[in-house]
Amino acid sequence: MKIKFLGTGSGKTSLNRHHSSFLISSSNHNVLVDCGDGISSAVLKQDMSFNSIDSILISHFHADHFSGLPSLLTQMKLLSRKNDLTIFVHKSEKDFLEDFIFHSYLFKERMTFDLKIISFDEDFEVKLNEGFSFISKINSHLYKYRRASLETSTLQENKLGFVSLSFLFKDEENSVIYSGDIGSENDLYLFNQKTDWFITETTHIKKENIPALLDKLDPSKLILTHIGDDFE
Ligand SMILES: [Zn+2]
Repeated sequence: MKIKFLGTGSGKTSLNRHHSSFLISSSNHNVLVDCGDGISSAVLKQDMSFNSIDSILISHFHADHFSGLPSLLTQMKLLSRKNDLTIFVHKSEKDFLEDFIFHSYLFKERMTFDLKIISFDEDFEVKLNEGFSFISKINSHLYKYRRASLETSTLQENKLGFVSLSFLFKDEENSVIYSGDIGSENDLYLFNQKTDWFITETTHIKKENIPALLDKLDPSKLILTHIGDDFE
């Protein structure tokens, strides 16, 4: 498994780092995890081809994780991409994502490639390619937006799934956990298993607790991302 970090910044736009996004590759498949604002520039800066991305996986619908998608699809269209592209999205946001792409005037029948939007459920293994898969779990990152009582929430809010995902990627040799943006440190232990690499964020965790994370999770490598200018 190989990982290329395209953006390691936080939700705050910075001149030093792009918003958090990485490409994880195995078994001849490259999946882009998150595609926030500015992702197309981040791809160019890495000297990477837009067409090398086989699929896109979205952890949650905050702007720093998904809002670059229409631009990314536009670049692929302008380059007359031919290979299929699959976007994997949690079932709670599939209708919204279909609408978002449609309202960006990116009509499937006008694309130069086959665009598939596939929804998945948490806790179920999703195969990316032979021997390369992921499983997701819902973390508490978006729970803060939930109103305490259903009576005070509006009809619009009831459309929201409040789903932010953590992922476990596996191929025949390695495993990588990506916590995604989390709500509390308990979210770091959702998978409760040993992993080769553990990727997590630094915006919603206290800096002083990071050494303890290493002790508890004991991965071969702990990778910190979602780094704000104040964390440098
Ligand atoms: Zn974020």
